Amino acid sequence: MGQVFENANHASVVLEIIEAIHENASYLSEIDGATGDGDHGVNMNKGFMMAKDRIEEGMDFAEALKILGRTLVMDIGGSMGPIYGTMFSKLNKTLKKEEKITKEVFLEALENARDGLMDLAGAQLGDKTLVDTIYPACEEYKKAMEEGKNFGECLGAMSEGAERGKENTKNLVAKLGRAARLGERSRGFLDAGATSCCIILKTMAASMQKRLSEE
Ligand SMILES: [Mg+2]
Repeated sequence: MGQVFENANHASVVLEIIEAIHENASYLSEIDGATGDGDHGVNMNKGFMMAKDRIEEGMDFAEALKILGRTLVMDIGGSMGPIYGTMFSKLNKTLKKEEKITKEVFLEALENARDGLMDLAGAQLGDKTLVDTIYPACEEYKKAMEEGKNFGECLGAMSEGAERGKENTKNLVAKLGRAARLGERSRGFLDAGATSCCIILKTMAASMQKRLSEE
């Protein structure tokens, strides 16, 4: 069976994601300030910290994802609440049935999250949004899986895809949201959503890698 990630007692992965957003809040607002209103880090931090109070260490990974998703949808405003809320809820829906999450199941969860985001945000690849991070992250993960890599290596590939996609938003012109009003002038800057999505995916990958078990 190879490497698996046990759902039980792994809320710690979600708590590490929350911590990473908290630590990067000022950085995210600074990036948002270059092409938007500079509130991305503040909004994200508010929602993620609210969720932190509702998550306990001993909870399941999927349960913690559900609480985070729900908190973001219900309690943070703007466009990011529903967008990230959808991403975490989609991950929860695919993963909650599994006692032991395999690399195949995790790919399915990741693809469902990506599709949910694209539907909700109406964003395509190249629009300079978080889709430009999650899309290549999914592709790299899938490619690694097809090459027969183990779960940990697939997660590593996901991180590399996320990083590359996020960095590439500097070359793109914004098509959606506040930054779209800048047109060509949005080129040369990172997208704030793509950056927070990269922090989330890379932290999730590293945190899961540490907790994989052999079957
Ligand atoms: Mg903003």
